[in-house]
Amino acid sequence: AGTSLSDLESLGVLGHGNGGTVYKALHRRTSAVYALKVVQADCDATVRRQLLREMEILRRTDSPHVVRCHGIFEKPNGDIAILMEHMDAGSLQTLLEASGTFSEKHLAAVARHVLNGLNYLHSHKIIHRDIKPSNLLVNSAMEVKIADFGVSKIMCRTLDACNSYVGTCAYMSPERFDPDSYGGNYDGYAGDIWSLGLTLLELYLGHFPLLGPGQRPDWATLMCAICFGEPPRSPDSASEEFRNFVECCLQKESSKRWTPAQLLNHPFVAGKDPGACS
Ligand code: ATP
Ligand code: MG
Repeated sequence: AGTSLSDLESLGVLGHGNGGTVYKALHRRTSAVYALKVVQADCDATVRRQLLREMEILRRTDSPHVVRCHGIFEKPNGDIAILMEHMDAGSLQTLLEASGTFSEKHLAAVARHVLNGLNYLHSHKIIHRDIKPSNLLVNSAMEVKIADFGVSKIMCRTLDACNSYVGTCAYMSPERFDPDSYGGNYDGYAGDIWSLGLTLLELYLGHFPLLGPGQRPDWATLMCAICFGEPPRSPDSASEEFRNFVECCLQKESSKRWTPAQLLNHPFVAGKDPGACS
């Protein structure tokens, strides 16, 4: 309480996103370390819109599975700064680059954390819409939390096609491209489950499932693979439980995908090793 930007000292850059830079910041009085995302005032209208949406969602969320926001500041020059919980082990993307692949035991813990986060968000009518390894952050307690709400959506009333999109389309579900073929009664929430399935499979394989190792993504290849191809499946080396779990996420027909609450009871994540996470 009572923190202002002048109480903080930069300890370096954690990363760059589109429109902003994230710094590691020391709170001098308490020695606490935070992440500070700074977005410049002169950013374009899209970035500004994303930022306002992110701020609104961060204000509404309060969950151990979602990266916490400790304050939002406007600098005298108009730059906006968001003070967040520092996730000191990086993202699943950086961990994947460091380790090559994840074990199933590790993936079950990751899945449990993310499903708890999605269960929280969806029950608060928030669709994340950008679940991918770089937006899932990890701390030294090996807790995984959902971050980055720039393209998320707060659902008002019921149906919403969620068709406006900026960013990568690689993790987008078939119904985001083609609601008529794969939508059923499309409401958007199931898109997060597709993205989670792709993310877990990528962490298992060590490369993005819809492309070969080292293949460069382009929009048309991805769109064809997502909409016209069979959904990616786990290799035979994976356990029956993992393969089935991924299949429950990667249903092309959105209404057939399991919900976070259902998946939390799936044998791949339920009832095993309760101490390992959350
Ligand atoms: P992308 O998700 O593709 O990396 P972005 O535009 O979504 O780009 P930002 O959310 O601005 O990126 O974050 C940029 C980077 O800063 C992240 O990839 C992450 O490595 C780091 N970062 C962001 N928030 C935190 C945090 N709370 N703790 C630690 N690192 C963070
Ligand atoms: Mg991000």
